[in-house]
Amino acid sequence: MAGEKSKIMVFGATGYLGKYMVKASVSKGHPTFAYVRPIKPNADPSKLGQHKEFEALGVTIIQGDLDEHEKLVAALSQVDVVISTLAVPQHLEQFKIIKAMKEAGTIKRFVPSEFGNEVDRVSGLPPFEALLANKRKIRRATEEAGISYTYVSANSFAAYFVDYLLHPHENRDEVVVYGSGEAKAVLNYEEDVAAYTVKAATDPRVGNRVIVYRPPGNIVSQLDLISSWEKKTGRTLKKINVPEEEIVKLSETLSFPDNVPVAILHNIFIKGDQTSFELTANDLEASQLYPDHKYTSVDALLDTCLVNPPKPKLAAFA
Ligand code: NAP
Repeated sequence: MAGEKSKIMVFGATGYLGKYMVKASVSKGHPTFAYVRPIKPNADPSKLGQHKEFEALGVTIIQGDLDEHEKLVAALSQVDVVISTLAVPQHLEQFKIIKAMKEAGTIKRFVPSEFGNEVDRVSGLPPFEALLANKRKIRRATEEAGISYTYVSANSFAAYFVDYLLHPHENRDEVVVYGSGEAKAVLNYEEDVAAYTVKAATDPRVGNRVIVYRPPGNIVSQLDLISSWEKKTGRTLKKINVPEEEIVKLSETLSFPDNVPVAILHNIFIKGDQTSFELTANDLEASQLYPDHKYTSVDALLDTCLVNPPKPKLAAFA
């Protein structure tokens, strides 16, 4: 597959990560397909605009539901790589894609919708653990179906979490610190997550492997982030500490789905699970595998935030 232009189909293309993924695929010259839900008469006009934007980029749009099995098989028969960026509530819907890929028999690589922690090496509080369990179920079903895969552990989306933690648009003089603030997380800019994923999905070295996105310039704690932001803005922020017990309690008392974000915050920023295991010589790490890709470090992203902070719109982080 290396060097050839694989035909890539993206599921969840109009979503937060999906838009980055489609653009990354097109910009690397791959014939790109998007299997999207049909636009209903009363649909959000931005959906139609998004489809038009994709078409202008040369993307082939196939409108269909995941329940339309025959349509799905026919669509998949036209491509050789599938990248799913379906939303969290739709993760188990990927069983339908797996069944259709098996029937199509053309798929050389499947990247299921994960893009977070390395699900086979970490565990979380129950509301987060349920989400991890679904991702593991899709991994096991992919393996059972005999479909070649690449599992992506993208860790945290940087534009989203910088916005969530620092609120760079708002010039606040306070900042919330979860737990001690010292646990190291990995914050990767969304454009890099997409670029690395398109590379990995078409790279023979990453066939039937997990790839972790842990570039050295993106490993930061909340306190590191706050101190960098204070230096860049010349302001001192008042730190509001939320102790671990409070976050754990909230994960037990809030109802679904509000209990999920707190359990995720706990895992990433208090437990520090994105860096709780060492990468060994047997692991694949994106910045080592693709040294030519100049990723945007957290520090560079904060510089951008000083002048033009990105405005991430995301349903929920997961
Ligand atoms: P999203 O924007 O909420 O949704 C992605 C797409 O899912 C939508 O555009 C839609 O595709 C499809 N979808 C939504 N509702 C659907 C429904 N009812 N039926 C069928 N399809 C539906 O997703 P996202 O936030 O980008 O998340 C993508 C992945 O990234 C997930 O695996 C999530 O866990 C992960 N994530 C990671 C982080 C992080 O910091 N690491 C943060 C956020 C998300 P169409 O309308 O195009 O058909």
